[in-house]
Amino acid sequence: MSKRQLAMVMDLNKCIGCQTCTVACKTQWTNRNGREYMYWNNVETYPGTGYPKNWMELGGGFDAAGDLQPGVVPNLEADYGVPWDYNYDALETTDFTAKPEKAGWSPSVEPTWGPNWDEDQGAGHFPEDNYFFYLPRICNHCTNPGCLSACPRDAIFKREEDGVVLVDLDRCQGYRYCIAGCPYKKIYFNPKISKSEKCILCFPRIEQGLPPACAQQCVGRIRFVGFLDDEESQVYKLVHKYKVALGLRADYGTQPNVYYIPPTEAPPKFDADGKIIEGSDRIPVAELEKLFGPQVHDAIKTLKSEMKKRKETGVSELMDLLIAYQHSEMFRLDTHYYHEVAKEHGRVPLAPVDTRYAKGKYTKSISHFKAAH
Ligand code: SF4
Ligand code: SF4
Repeated sequence: MSKRQLAMVMDLNKCIGCQTCTVACKTQWTNRNGREYMYWNNVETYPGTGYPKNWMELGGGFDAAGDLQPGVVPNLEADYGVPWDYNYDALETTDFTAKPEKAGWSPSVEPTWGPNWDEDQGAGHFPEDNYFFYLPRICNHCTNPGCLSACPRDAIFKREEDGVVLVDLDRCQGYRYCIAGCPYKKIYFNPKISKSEKCILCFPRIEQGLPPACAQQCVGRIRFVGFLDDEESQVYKLVHKYKVALGLRADYGTQPNVYYIPPTEAPPKFDADGKIIEGSDRIPVAELEKLFGPQVHDAIKTLKSEMKKRKETGVSELMDLLIAYQHSEMFRLDTHYYHEVAKEHGRVPLAPVDTRYAKGKYTKSISHFKAAH
């Protein structure tokens, strides 16, 4: 158990599947050097195969007795898909009237599988009962991480100060037990350096009072970030006060610290004549229960009743929280806390990201820069 725990809440009613978060993470951390196929943040269509393919069926996590379950390491070609590239230089001289393979801008490998291969397919029949929603996924920075338990080298650790789960690359020998042990398949093998790598929750940004890149860039403003013990934080209120944010597949036993507001706002179903079936649920509640457990029923009830209350009275703290007009209403981080931690360990607190900017006449009042001096 770490002293404090950072958490993220994602509101699935607001995700538009734009992949801005994916690109933010990719460009920041994983665009080269053996990480090409890694998506520390991915957004998959649910129902669907996910990334890697059928990850929910690949084992790992713990049983009810707390024993680590066997799992498999996904195959690059079959389960992730070999990442391909294009010869962009050829574009200048490309004959666009020629067949792609002749024009020189065809993929570098023949694509057979890849992330979002089945994007937007979903389930059901159009227009009666078809449905899907987007499921963004990062490492859950679990309280009881399967990856950590599986590692025979003690190379994976959970930071005492905020519960972020990291791989010590000096200790990691690339055995890949962690990948089998993580039921979310959110830790990846880097074949170039023969080490395992994973989401680091952008801790260098967090320590500076900035949210992770995926959360900062999120177009739908679906992501809330803060400490779970901070009763003023949005994550505390959504998880503990209103109990509308739930862990994904908590039955895996890893105690995930990324929580989801279940998707409740879908149109009703239509009958064979195209007429609305009043009171019907287009997204089957059984599917939501599979993902978020039996508590999903109460969460949906609370969300719907607070929405009604807001419509009738104009007042609902929960709805205001979820609307999140500004970044300051989504993120509650604590640079000062990290500076105290640094002091306790006899370390010099990190300098602000850009000292010239921070010392500027108009910027020195910005709180996270102020705390850095
Ligand atoms: S989601 Fe997987 S990789 Fe992340 S902490 Fe949990 S078990 Fe480890
Ligand atoms: S940026 Fe936000 S809205 Fe867009 S896919 Fe990612 S989580 Fe969803």
